[in-house]
Amino acid sequence: MSSVFARDYAAELPMVDHASGVYIHGADGRAYLDGMGSAGVIGIGHGRTEIYDALASQGSKVSYVYTASFNHPWQESLGRSILSVAPEGMSAVYFVSGGSEANETALKLARQYHVERGQPQRHRMLARWQSYHGVTIATLSLSGRTSWRAPYDPYLLPVLHVAPPYEYRCSYCRDSGGCTMDCVDELERTILLAGPETISCFFAETIVGTTASGLVPKPEYYRRVREICDRYGILFIADEVLMGYGRTGRPFAIDDWGVLPDMITCGKAIGSGYAPLGAVLVNEKVTSVFREGRKRFVHGFTYSGHALSCFVGQQVFDIMQREDLFSRPGVMGAYLHGRLNDLQQRHALIGDVRGRGLYAGVEFVADRGSREPFAPERNFTGRLVAMMRDRGVIVGGGVPGANFGRGGDHIQITPPYIVSEAEIDVIVDALDDVLTLLS
Ligand code: PLP
Repeated sequence: MSSVFARDYAAELPMVDHASGVYIHGADGRAYLDGMGSAGVIGIGHGRTEIYDALASQGSKVSYVYTASFNHPWQESLGRSILSVAPEGMSAVYFVSGGSEANETALKLARQYHVERGQPQRHRMLARWQSYHGVTIATLSLSGRTSWRAPYDPYLLPVLHVAPPYEYRCSYCRDSGGCTMDCVDELERTILLAGPETISCFFAETIVGTTASGLVPKPEYYRRVREICDRYGILFIADEVLMGYGRTGRPFAIDDWGVLPDMITCGKAIGSGYAPLGAVLVNEKVTSVFREGRKRFVHGFTYSGHALSCFVGQQVFDIMQREDLFSRPGVMGAYLHGRLNDLQQRHALIGDVRGRGLYAGVEFVADRGSREPFAPERNFTGRLVAMMRDRGVIVGGGVPGANFGRGGDHIQITPPYIVSEAEIDVIVDALDDVLTLLS
């Protein structure tokens, strides 16, 4: 019988029976090591029974209230918890159901902020090529992966895109022996050409994830971005749906740059897969305009601040605090990156290893000297991901048509924060084995 689940008619996906720790167990009895943390979602690990115990004992108090009519304690407590680990200066949190909703919400907050301040002409959005911000029309418009935009192109909103900090393939600096920051100059040039007074916000993944597998900008990058945005009255929004909430070994990835964005968007790890949850953290500069102005954000989903999702989010936060999971990815990430760097010495197919903490990106090349990518017809990433899966290890990548073009072929390794060294060895050894066969 064919599946009623209609996401992909080309692939027959394994049926899951249960998941526990870093493993997903199929109905056919096979175990898969979740080396992609189920799309970077799982922080605290699968099957944490304390979440279900807490739901049974207190979760039944209230499952849902409409947050335009009632506040509830779980939204308040989770908001305060998140702000306690957020960069100083963040003062409000809007809860939603996922990353795309968080980014949509941030976009609208930015727009209303300018309207409230008497600058309705600020309507243009700035983002970067090779970025990913979500699947809704506005967040896809921000996203800079051409192959994902193409089918919907006529629907998309006009967004100004600038070059990402992709040192390995950057047309400004790849042959200059290091980043020259020309991409930040391009940001300022674009603002000046478009008219600074027309621009609302600059949207950037603090570390680019899915679409380029781990672009980590130089230490000065966000300081320069912040200065430029401030100079022209533009809001800087850091998308940390994938990289925030512990993934890099800090509560938020931007912590490593010491810069305060106007908003930080979150998703994935804040619910750790136990509930759909996303959030927008807003700094005091923006919050104060709403508090003192019309006092109302003209926006809200039916499920904004969903009570059970916030309750689960609080349990996730408590586990993260108790088990040091906001910092553990830094320690385990050093081990993962060390092993991948060693692998790069032995496999000429590996062009670049990048990322931070328990986010590792590996880019593959046909020729390491010239950095020539594989021809798309070779479906290198797709084959590699399938061979890894045959060995019981799941890594991110291999979406048809997704990894080609300027970025070449690459995978993401984003295991749950509780992963052990032995489990990292299983992932890297499988990759070693597969690369030997593909060479
Ligand atoms: N932003 C980034 C950086 C992401 O990686 C993702 C999802 O992968 C999103 C936004 C969209 O989040 P969601 O799939 O929860 O809507």
